[in-house]
Amino acid sequence: MSAAAPGSVRRRRATSVRPAPHPGDGVEVLAGVQGARRAALAQLGVRTVEDLLRLAPRRHDDRRRPTPLGSVAPGPPVLVIGRIARSRARRLRGGMSLLEARLEDETGGLEARWFVRGFVPRALPQGARYALYGAAQLAAGRCVLVGPERERLGEEDAPSDQGLVPVHPLTRGLSAAVVRRLVRAALPAADSVVDLMPAEVARAQGLPALREALPTLHFPLRLEEAEQARRRLAFDELWLHELGLARGRRRRAALEAPAVVLAPKVHERIRARLPFTLTPAQERVVGEVLADLAQPHPMRRLLQGDVGSGKTLVAAYAVLGAVAVGLQAAFMAPTEVLAQQHEATLSRLLAGSRVRLAALSGRVSGRRRAAVLASLASGEVQVLVGTHALVETDVRFRGLGLVVVDEQHKFGVRQRHALAEHGVASGGRTPHTLLMTATPIPRTLALTLYGDLDVSVLDGLPPGRLPVETWVVRPREGARIMTRVKQALARGEQAFVVYPLIEGSEAGSVRDATAGAERWRRALPTRRVGLLHGRLSPAAKQQVLEAFRARELDVLVATVVVEVGVDVPNATLLIVEHAERFGLTQLHQLRGRVGRGRAASLCVLVDRSAAGGAPRLEVLARTHDGFRVAEEDLALRGLGDLLGTRQSGVPGFRAARLPDDLPLLARARDAAEALLASDPGLRRPEHGALVARLETLEERGGELGG
Ligand code: ADP
Ligand code: MG
Repeated sequence: MSAAAPGSVRRRRATSVRPAPHPGDGVEVLAGVQGARRAALAQLGVRTVEDLLRLAPRRHDDRRRPTPLGSVAPGPPVLVIGRIARSRARRLRGGMSLLEARLEDETGGLEARWFVRGFVPRALPQGARYALYGAAQLAAGRCVLVGPERERLGEEDAPSDQGLVPVHPLTRGLSAAVVRRLVRAALPAADSVVDLMPAEVARAQGLPALREALPTLHFPLRLEEAEQARRRLAFDELWLHELGLARGRRRRAALEAPAVVLAPKVHERIRARLPFTLTPAQERVVGEVLADLAQPHPMRRLLQGDVGSGKTLVAAYAVLGAVAVGLQAAFMAPTEVLAQQHEATLSRLLAGSRVRLAALSGRVSGRRRAAVLASLASGEVQVLVGTHALVETDVRFRGLGLVVVDEQHKFGVRQRHALAEHGVASGGRTPHTLLMTATPIPRTLALTLYGDLDVSVLDGLPPGRLPVETWVVRPREGARIMTRVKQALARGEQAFVVYPLIEGSEAGSVRDATAGAERWRRALPTRRVGLLHGRLSPAAKQQVLEAFRARELDVLVATVVVEVGVDVPNATLLIVEHAERFGLTQLHQLRGRVGRGRAASLCVLVDRSAAGGAPRLEVLARTHDGFRVAEEDLALRGLGDLLGTRQSGVPGFRAARLPDDLPLLARARDAAEALLASDPGLRRPEHGALVARLETLEERGGELGG
């Protein structure tokens, strides 16, 4: 049995002759790709024949050697070849049919079954040769293959899927066999795929040429070959990404920004306004930020700090610094609730000064909005706080010097940088940008993904913080929870209760905030219980949150609208219902709503999953370190899920696997820098196609990080 060479063994009954596919063709040139299938491929990011060729398999199944029928045992899937000894098909209940066959060879026999919906299939012809691939199960003491892949073979044929068989990423409506067939049909195009990477770059990395890598990626003779081919494609993606970043860095280095240089007296005045003495970590990061601001080139700094580490104060310092030298500052937050909170915080800091602050969000419209815009354009207002409403095109500043984006991972790449681009577009100077996040990713990963950002880490919490005690409980432990709630409320502290839904699910199996609020009101008749969720009007949201902040409410029942940023230090108890429905990072963010004051806090994660005992949740009981939680989450869910690929602007790499490919990423970065060093503008004719590709990627935005 020889392993299949790429494309060598596919025989198909005579179909209409199709011209050989070209890499740039849409996938619909391949036989059998119409409406639904085309849409399913698009879901995988596959639009062209080249995309398909670059779709790295998730794994390869080893179908190198058929297993003799006599020695098939339950376990991993096997390839078997034999003749049909008998077969029949019959109708079952509920529109299902059952096709059964017994396959035999010299060593023995094996039963196979397929359940078919909708029609009664024909029995397999006796004596015909078949190849089947599937896992054997024990049924009534006998080995049976249930629903194996099957292929009818001629007398001399080897199965077309023999050898190391690729299993590609799949979505609904696409089976592994279909993707495999399409990839095979696309293979002739591999020879004409344009290789953007200069041959010496790939060679220097010891990686194969693209033309060799593409077929091997799917149909290798040995697994190591497939991995080497995958690395070549991964290197392509990472190298393009790094080239884009490096070009961006160079472009920005040429941009001018207003330098913010503060006299010692000004520092004193700013510090006098702050409600706390800065912690050592805050001092250090403020120093890093101020050093950037003092430069005549735009700062682009990412501030990573665990929930509750006090990022707002660092940003506020920078805002006060910018306005002190007569510049304007914009402060953007992802939710209305958070924007309002920042508005309140900054207003307090600025109280009694001449600095004027305005807010923009979805709820500011009409005449009021026009007035805010006018006062920004005239320079009458120096500080603008709000939601993504800040990036609308008609928002113009007189002299924007600083942009702060809080919880930056909640914004798209474009939104994140849109404000900074105002200056560029008007030919003026570019403002400094400070991006903040509490969803930490390992530093090396941040540096390379967001390549053109400098990273500050705010480690350590403000003084007097106690770690939040964290329980993972099952629903039956309600009484124990209630005792703690009553104790906390009796001490004058407050509690958050978070639900995954606003209103009941159809099935009623998931608890929701609306019914939850009622339940808590009944359970605590003497206490005031408020309800906060995303469907309330902005004004109502503000009212509820302000009431909670002012201690007019004891318990706040909410949805994840309180996930990011909400800061009510008197709240010491957080209960998350259906914790099993949340990601670890999200739960860690939610937990950050408590433990903000000096009193001991408790976070209760109620696991209502049927099975219970989700070991995942125990991670939170074990650690309070957001970086550790993020690492666990990364390992469990992958980078895309942790950050939300599109949202975060983490490029949708197809062959590259992060964080596993970090070393490759570092090499891609060096190679990109080396290329730009030798041809800074990429003006050499052989780089023409490369420049065109980089420009499309830039236009698409979001695909390149940072
Ligand atoms: P995050 O980093 O999650 O945005 P915040 O900026 O909301 O954190 O700060 C968390 C809490 O810590 C707030 O209640 C804030 O007032 C308080 N805080 C911040 N800096 C200090 C400090 N230097 N000393 C004491 N408390 C502080
Ligand atoms: Mg915050």
